Amino acid sequence: MTLPWMEAVQQRLEQANVTERLGHAPLICGPAGLGKRALAEWLLARVLCLAPAGEAPCGKCRSCELLASGSHPDSFRLAIPEDKKEIPVDNVRGLIASLQLTPRIGPNRVGLIEPAEAMNRNAANALLKTLEEPAENAWLILVSHQPGRLPATIRSRCQKIVIRPPEPDAASAWMAERHPELDQADRARILTLAAGAPLAASALLADNGLEHGQQILDGLLKVASGGPVSAIAGEDWHAQPESSWHWLSTWMAAFMRQAQGMRGDALPEGFRLPRPVAPERLARLWEQALAGRRMASSAVRHDLLIGKWLLEWARSFTPER
Ligand SMILES: [Zn+2]
Repeated sequence: MTLPWMEAVQQRLEQANVTERLGHAPLICGPAGLGKRALAEWLLARVLCLAPAGEAPCGKCRSCELLASGSHPDSFRLAIPEDKKEIPVDNVRGLIASLQLTPRIGPNRVGLIEPAEAMNRNAANALLKTLEEPAENAWLILVSHQPGRLPATIRSRCQKIVIRPPEPDAASAWMAERHPELDQADRARILTLAAGAPLAASALLADNGLEHGQQILDGLLKVASGGPVSAIAGEDWHAQPESSWHWLSTWMAAFMRQAQGMRGDALPEGFRLPRPVAPERLARLWEQALAGRRMASSAVRHDLLIGKWLLEWARSFTPER
């Protein structure tokens, strides 16, 4: 794994591992787009490796080979099933049972749950006993983008490993290597849009995510300049509700920062709204967009919700009567 901002935490985990002080339930948490999953996979491989070479899993032993081919019988991964929106209790019970089996390859077994906050209440409760009395030589790695959504009883039984975004210079250097086509100003802007998370910034470029963001910013400007909401509602924003709400909240946050005269702006150079909007109003719109995003995967009419939001946005630019 070559994520420079992870090196220090990898060394700490390695040290804990060789001195047998690695807790049985590390909880790797922090914002999305920093490489938490990659760190979890590294740790899983490191615990299972039969001939670790320094900090790295050797890549050659039977355990490493089985992991690479995706068929290691002592590693167990739990994610949200494709047809579900959360991790059900039965899947957690299955994982617990698997961790109690005798290891087949080496001395250890490892489970990995991501995203841990997707466990429903019953699922989390089922895990508690395992966390309290971990089986010998069984590890459970939890990865969470929103650890605050995990029950406190789970959090208190895990060893928290907090991953923070790298310093802007380090993030920019990593982006420069991966995206040599960008100049420094563009790198800085995209990193700001991705809240400083380099992998998230890189993903924005890969998925044409920026294009959608720009389209939404253009639409906001049209409405702010007196254009009818109906004209842009036809642009299918509701086809990708999560991305639309994400960008609406991102731009509201950017307008709030601009209104407060803050630097590090995510907005294109020289971008200005036709008239200033009160910060409280921007904050309310921002909160509504965040609420919309939380509902992105539920079966609500996002076209109606986004339309309603846009009417509220339009009202911000018409004189109060
Ligand atoms: Zn190995």
